[in-house]
Amino acid sequence: MKMNELQNAPWVMAKRAQKMNPSVIREILKVTEKPGIISFAGGLPSPKTFPISEFSAACEKVLRESGDAALQYAASEGFVTLREMVAAALPWPVDPAQVLITTGSQQGLDLVAKVLIDEGSRVLVETPTYLGALQAFTPMEPEVVSVASDAEGVDLDDLTAKAAGARFLYVLPNFQNPTGRTMTEERRAALSSRAAELGLPIVEDNPYGDLWFDTPPPLPLSARNPEGCVYLGSFSKVLAPGLRLGFIVAPKSLYPKLLQAKQAADLHSPGFNQRMVAEVIKDGFLERHVPTIRALYKSQCDAMLAAMQQHMPEGVHWNTPAGGMFVWVRLPEGLNAIELLPKAVDKGVAFVPGAAFYADGADPRTLRLSFVTASVDQIKTGIAALAAAIREHAARG
Ligand code: PMP
Repeated sequence: MKMNELQNAPWVMAKRAQKMNPSVIREILKVTEKPGIISFAGGLPSPKTFPISEFSAACEKVLRESGDAALQYAASEGFVTLREMVAAALPWPVDPAQVLITTGSQQGLDLVAKVLIDEGSRVLVETPTYLGALQAFTPMEPEVVSVASDAEGVDLDDLTAKAAGARFLYVLPNFQNPTGRTMTEERRAALSSRAAELGLPIVEDNPYGDLWFDTPPPLPLSARNPEGCVYLGSFSKVLAPGLRLGFIVAPKSLYPKLLQAKQAADLHSPGFNQRMVAEVIKDGFLERHVPTIRALYKSQCDAMLAAMQQHMPEGVHWNTPAGGMFVWVRLPEGLNAIELLPKAVDKGVAFVPGAAFYADGADPRTLRLSFVTASVDQIKTGIAALAAAIREHAARG
């Protein structure tokens, strides 16, 4: 076929392709890549936490000792030693046979969507929720229904009213993206028993659970009812996102279908990366390393909260996260975070408007700030600039 014939090819997009949208965050990240911008927009882990020398040593060792296997095709379930380590580290009894290594937990969301959602299936999400999950679910054409949520987690009355026929509830109990909130012990206990009564499966996404500041969060929902939950974990926030490694812990009844979806998607996650991670973490490395990430992120979070206290005008509200990477902000009445963004960028600071994280009924006054990528000095400067942008936006009438 000649080149010009190819260009004229009459591509007809699948219905699911028409449902796909560019991630608002990735679009915003492009704007904020301008030199000199202090970005609170992306949820990019601090590169200071990447264990580069450990990976360098592990890379050399893996190639020397098991190069043939590391560079060969491998099992779709994942590297067995890593699966055993994942199972052993979780706070409830997990058989390594239930662990499926994924290409980031984002792939876990995609596989769950493919296996559990039909066109028109009802899927329940928190208000607001993780944008990347909405992106993964939407092409399967579900009816995404937002469940009202407060500072302690999902509202159980609203959940009960909306649960009939739902395929699952997608929930982030720890240091949620975008709000930074954590579901309380009482709410977890109540949600767990209510979901069991309703026969409502739960997809629990927990990439941030290890990043607590002062006290660990309560037990995951999956620990309370393993048969009723699919659990998604990630190495992105405790080691490095560039590894693209995460995992699913699935009930045995669901595992084979997730595995088949995984095979169709990418055969298996990179075996070389899996072996390097197993090598790096085998002697309790995470127990030494993760506390250093917690301490760094806590200091950055404290700096952000103190700067906000100092600079923000009256009527701006924010929460105090107990871990994770995000602060959630609500502007005074009448202000709009999407309109504020270009003004903030003009002043050299960026954030993500909260509207991106709502399946429906977005609150235009909200925005998300990440405190992990910028330095403490940048945080101080950036928050002062953001406060100035808010003041000007409020004064414009
Ligand atoms: N879930 C949530 C809530 C996230 O915030 C992210 C990353 N931003 C992911 C899943 C995906 O993470 P990864 O694929 O890097 O494991």
